[in-house]
Amino acid sequence: MNPGGQAQKQCWQCSTLNDINASRCSACGSYLSGVPTSAPTNAQYPRGPAIQSNYGMIQVPAGSHPIWVVVLLSVLFGGWAGMLVNRQIVKGLVYGLVAGLVFCYVTCCFGFLVWYPLTLIDAILVAMKLNRGQAVKEWEFF
Ligand SMILES: [Zn+2]
Repeated sequence: MNPGGQAQKQCWQCSTLNDINASRCSACGSYLSGVPTSAPTNAQYPRGPAIQSNYGMIQVPAGSHPIWVVVLLSVLFGGWAGMLVNRQIVKGLVYGLVAGLVFCYVTCCFGFLVWYPLTLIDAILVAMKLNRGQAVKEWEFF
């Protein structure tokens, strides 16, 4: 393709080889001077895949979730406190605290015996999932 052995430059527009001293492409007339032969074009930077929506999902690096803080707070105050540490904020407040209080009120605090261990177990199991690096939904249970 280069019989004379002399340097040539490739047209950035149409890839035709032109004389090194040519200022314009002999095929398409594009200006050649100052244009690097391997000028990057937008085609070399394809758009990456759309960022996966992580809305409503909670995920932390594996091994970084403070399980013992969840256990401690859940044992002391009820599972809703552990849910807050698990970043299940809405779930912790609505389900854990409000529903727990209503449940206790309706059942004359008898429901506390059900509510307390359930929320405790839920908070700890979710904390263990998070610590494994698993993504957890805002409203995921156990
Ligand atoms: Zn050209």
